[in-house]
Amino acid sequence: MIGLVKKGKGEDSLELMEFSLRNLSENDVLVKIHYTGICGTDLHIKKDEYPAEYPVVLGHEFSGEIVEKGKNVREFQLGDRVVSLTAAVTCENCEYCEQGMFMLCAQRKSIGSGIDGAFSPYLVLPASLLYHIPSNISYKEAALSEPLACVVRCVVERTDVKAGQQIIVSGPGTIGLLTMQVVQAHGAQVKMLGTSEDLERLQLAEKLGAEETIIVDTKEGSQRLKELGDSADIVFECSGAAPSAMTCLSIVKKQGHYTQVGLFGKNIEFDFDGALKKEITFSNGYASEPSSWRIALQLMEKGQIDLKSLVSDIYSLENWEKGFEKAESRGGLKVLLSP
Ligand SMILES: [Zn+2]
Ligand SMILES: [Zn+2]
Repeated sequence: MIGLVKKGKGEDSLELMEFSLRNLSENDVLVKIHYTGICGTDLHIKKDEYPAEYPVVLGHEFSGEIVEKGKNVREFQLGDRVVSLTAAVTCENCEYCEQGMFMLCAQRKSIGSGIDGAFSPYLVLPASLLYHIPSNISYKEAALSEPLACVVRCVVERTDVKAGQQIIVSGPGTIGLLTMQVVQAHGAQVKMLGTSEDLERLQLAEKLGAEETIIVDTKEGSQRLKELGDSADIVFECSGAAPSAMTCLSIVKKQGHYTQVGLFGKNIEFDFDGALKKEITFSNGYASEPSSWRIALQLMEKGQIDLKSLVSDIYSLENWEKGFEKAESRGGLKVLLSP
């Protein structure tokens, strides 16, 4: 089988090469991959900024179809359209596993970093990880269900969003635009912050219902931020950039809530004394849990999230380098690879 393998350390250690697909056990299914999204985490793994167990096939944001199943698998049939949880291997009896918080298990191995992932034509997975794709959702859209589940973890499960609150999202990439839409689905309006490199993305944010967009690195933008002062009930930092974290801290109100949605990939400087003086509550979310997937799939089924507009480019697996370049350039939004 051919797959996009991270062979070891070093930026040039990512290669499309032969690997051997795990044998199907009685609780497994063989999934034919339709699309796999390039995630910020894949870019971090490529640059050795996020750990992986080498050699490993990358990719965890996939949609696919069951083409073979083990004899114990009853809840799924051949031809079923599926997506899956990423925490594939866990101990199943620590205090976190017992509460369904598999990302926090010390033994966890995730798809595309701890075990082989979905930048490949096929993937073998335990059927217990799978979810059916709602019938109104295409394979292309379904490839965004993993990032949506991660956003649900942060917005719904780790932050308490209420209708009528003043909410600011910083970073209009895929994660920021999903965050905005999940907040809107909870009845609150969002002001979206970006930089002058994000003009197209900010336009899309407006199309998707942003109350206001602010370009923070312009004169007008910094003037507008001053006008707003520290008025936001909740800020969601979605860019993984240190200056954005500081902007979020400056605009959140006293006793407000700061939620970190994405990874920075490195240590950053942050004004913790400033946060103390405002008595800020912090939260964040580590990828997604089964509870997050159930909510994400419901939102998709009810048509409350526009996923289609977030897919900017599709490349074949052979053209993965172009896809990764595009994803790194901030020129597009979600880039999918299709095997
Ligand atoms: Zn991801
Ligand atoms: Zn565990």
